Amino acid sequence: MQPYAKKRFGQHFLTDRHYIERIIDAIAPQPDDVMIEIGPGPGAITAPLLDKLNHLHAVEIDRDLAAALRERFPAEKFSLHENDVLDFDFAIFSDRFRCVGNLPYNISTPFLFHLATFEAALIDGTFMLQKEVVDRMVAAPDTEAYGRLSVMLQYRFAMKCLFDVPPGAFTPPPKVNSAIVRMTPLPAARLRAKDDTRFAAIVTAGFGQRRKTLSNTLKPFMAASEIEALGIDPKRRAETLSLAEFVQLADASLIR
Ligand code: SAM
Repeated sequence: MQPYAKKRFGQHFLTDRHYIERIIDAIAPQPDDVMIEIGPGPGAITAPLLDKLNHLHAVEIDRDLAAALRERFPAEKFSLHENDVLDFDFAIFSDRFRCVGNLPYNISTPFLFHLATFEAALIDGTFMLQKEVVDRMVAAPDTEAYGRLSVMLQYRFAMKCLFDVPPGAFTPPPKVNSAIVRMTPLPAARLRAKDDTRFAAIVTAGFGQRRKTLSNTLKPFMAASEIEALGIDPKRRAETLSLAEFVQLADASLIR
């Protein structure tokens, strides 16, 4: 029997065996992987993961679910961190790790930004998210879904939408479609801004007022003439800029 689902923790429990199997196949767990599951809930993914892994770590905020998980899975195979994942320190793992989870949709964006700060230690992440969020993660410039989330994540990760999951696969069914996304950190030689903090500030400012041109949104950082000198029309809007152009702008804004 499924436990009572708590709205405040974004609980929709995966109950469809077909999708559970597809998710486990997509993760392809290897026995020695250092794997962390976010929000195991009643354990729909946890149990089949544990069938394949020597050990699994999990981060769960709900005390009632945590107690049931502790009873169900032996401590020598299963380490449960009873935490809010948004405060969770992934640096406690000395080895590089893999991360998976059917994430609560209300915290998906802050979670992705939090995880991105541990990019160097992450091997890969496979997550179920609201389809609309996955669309934003993988969006290309000049599309409606392209925004701050797309640029900030594409700066660090290769991302692929693997498949969609319909509301009927969950109990209770969510109002929206879901999708599975794979995130893999880009190699160290990837395109990098001189200063990550400035890059983030430029992206945030650019998308802060979507309808405004770069000459307006980037005014605190650089003059229209400085944007033009890079070969970028200051009348363009942030949603038309490629990742490389954001890096160009961020680097040029440091030289003043
Ligand atoms: N993995 C289970 C499944 O697929 O059936 C449950 C998925 S449910 C969508 C999200 C899970 O994340 C719940 O177990 C919920 O309690 C947990 N959760 C919600 N907010 C959390 C947070 N801030 N930190 C850690 N876990 C959280």
